[in-house]
Parts: sequence; C-alpha cells; structure tokens
Amino acid sequence: MKLPIANDARDWSDDRHAMAYDNPQFWDGAHLQSELHRVFEICNGCRLCFNLCPSFDVLFRRIDALDPHREEAEGKHIESGRIVEEHEAGELLKHVKVSTENPVGLLQDADKERVVELCYECKLCFPKCPYVPPHEFAVDFPKLMLRAKMIGAREDGIAFRERFLGATDLVGSVMTKVAPLANAAAHNSFNRMLMEKTIGIARERQLPNYADESFLTWWSRRAPVPQNGSQPVALFATCFVNYNDPAIGKDAVSMLERAGCNVDCPEQVCCGMPKLDGGDLEGARKLARQNVETLLPAVREGRKIVSPGPSCTLVLRTEYPELVPTPEAREVAAAVMDLSDFLLHQARSKRLPKPPEGTLGKVAFHVACHNRV
Ligand code: SF4
Ligand code: SF4
Repeated sequence: MKLPIANDARDWSDDRHAMAYDNPQFWDGAHLQSELHRVFEICNGCRLCFNLCPSFDVLFRRIDALDPHREEAEGKHIESGRIVEEHEAGELLKHVKVSTENPVGLLQDADKERVVELCYECKLCFPKCPYVPPHEFAVDFPKLMLRAKMIGAREDGIAFRERFLGATDLVGSVMTKVAPLANAAAHNSFNRMLMEKTIGIARERQLPNYADESFLTWWSRRAPVPQNGSQPVALFATCFVNYNDPAIGKDAVSMLERAGCNVDCPEQVCCGMPKLDGGDLEGARKLARQNVETLLPAVREGRKIVSPGPSCTLVLRTEYPELVPTPEAREVAAAVMDLSDFLLHQARSKRLPKPPEGTLGKVAFHVACHNRV
C-alpha cells in the first residue's frame, strides 16, 4: 500500500477562499448566524460525527431536547410496551401530526455558544465529513467554529485565559528560568485553585512540566557537528518541545543526522496556533509573518522545514497561506513536512539506519489528530 506523503496533501486554500479572513463577509455576524444554522441543519441530518467530541454531543442532545415531535418520531406517544395491532395502526396514523418545524431553529444563542466553546479544533470532523468543499454544501465545521470565536473576540475582546494560553513564548521563556519553582507551583492544590479563579484553567487539568533549559538554548550552545548529510533540513522545534520536552527535539536532531540530514534550526517563534484557537487573529498573523521571514532563507537554501508537532505542522502548512496571503508564505508552507512523514520518506529512500537487531521491540504509534488531517 502506498502511504501518502506530506507533499501529496491537497492545497485547501483555494477551497477555503470564500471564508478568507480578509473577506468582509467573514466578519459579518448576521452571515455567521445563518451559516451556523445552515451547517447545524446539515449535521443534524447527517450525525456522522455524533461521537467525535463534546461539541457534536451537545449540539445533537440540544436539538433532540428541543424537537417538539421527538416523542412521536420515537413512538413514545403510544403506550410503552404495547403491541399495536394492524387495525389500530391506521387509526393512530390519522392523529399523527406532520410538521416541518425544524428544531435547529429553536436553538438559543447560549446553545450555539456552548457548541463553539467546546470545539478544541482537533479538526477530525473535517476529513470525516463527506460535505467539505468542493462539495456544494461546503461544510467546514472547524473553520466555522474558529470564525465564531474570532468574531466573538473582535466584539467582546480576547479573554484573559486565551491571552495567557496564547503567549507561549513569553510564558515559556519565563517558566524555564524558574522551572523547579514553576513545576512545584503547578502541582500545588492552593495554586491550582488560584489559577482556576484568576486565569480560568481548571484545577484538575494536568499541566506539562517546564524544562530547565529550552531546546533552542541547547541548540545555540551545541558544539558544531560536521554537516556531512546530503539532505538539508531545518527543524521547527515547536513550543512544547522548546519549553517543555527538549529531549524530543534532541532525539529528532540525532535521528535526522543519522538519517543523512544536514540539520539547521533557524530563528523561530510559536507557530501561532494557540492564538488562532483563542480567536486572536492579529496575534497569530504577527507570529506567522515572523516565521515566514526567518524560515524563508532556509527554504531557499533547499531545506525542508521539519516539525515534530503535528498541530504546528498543520498550522504552518495549511493556515499560513491564509494568515499571510503572500507567495513567500506559500513557499514556506509548501516546504513544511511533519517529522514522521519526513522520516517515512527517508525510510523509503533507504536512508534510515537500521536499529541494532532485537533492540526496538514492539512499538505502539499514536497517529495524532492533526497528523491525520
Ligand atoms: S474540530 Fe474537533 S472538537 Fe471541533 S467540532 Fe470538529 S471534531 Fe469536534
Ligand atoms: S461535520 Fe460533516 S460528517 Fe460531521 S456531522 Fe456535520 S455534516 Fe456530518
């Protein structure tokens, strides 16, 4: 079976042009409401995503609860457990009210806001959906949820929690300086209660530890290694690897070099996903512009941009041409590959060193949602 490689991925940007950020209709609240109604109606008729996430669960439960004819549809208006004889069925059918009333129209603003709020942009519903563009229904549920968040942020301001979670570089660079203290504080129940009350991060939420030294600091003080590799790559470390788990980045560098790559790590900032998901379009655009500027020279040197974080890969590849609508952003986006895709590519070209016999054992590989997308 031929596995798809990253560069086979389709370019969604043309399909999504109708909902481009610079299209004034994107920001039209009345148009958003009619789109929510239209897409919720299609989803109600389809329900393929019923078990994917809390957004769909809440949406379908609310629609069912609001449906005035639900009991009739389920036959519950007939005495439960009683077998309906054929001669009775005709009589009962005379009393069935046929209604074209649509329960989606009964959803309140609070219901829609809850559906939007519960979407965590895993984007799994996109590849599952048979109605995505170019289908005439043009359903893009994750983008619609993002649009609702952005319009909300523009009207009401960006919530403090979203600002905090979006400031990954600022928070990460401070926390790595005081990592032992920060990590102890994150596990202290009194502090967690304070964080819940002030920032809005649930006290039960497990938080990742911060590293004593960021990956990029390690990279900057790493002794130069002879670059004998024939395949030039630039590593986009990602915030999680940079501030929380630099060992992933160090292993990635080691693996890439053993696979015959000449590795560089250009100046970089957060890809912008946390800001984007919090509705902060301008913040995400600013970061995207910075990364396009610093990654472009590496791309023009012929380097692939390789990232070990599927979410960051997805943003760089598919969101950047929309966030920064320039040929340079498209050039950078086209050069981005997820690390796993890249290594698969190297393996196919017989460039991966074989592990010593018998040392690897069984490996379970979790394909991340954003990798599937
Ligand atoms: S993107 Fe993920 S969380 Fe959002 S609606 Fe789709 S499946 Fe649910
Ligand atoms: S997003 Fe698509 S597949 Fe999922 S319920 Fe809606 S119409 Fe169906």
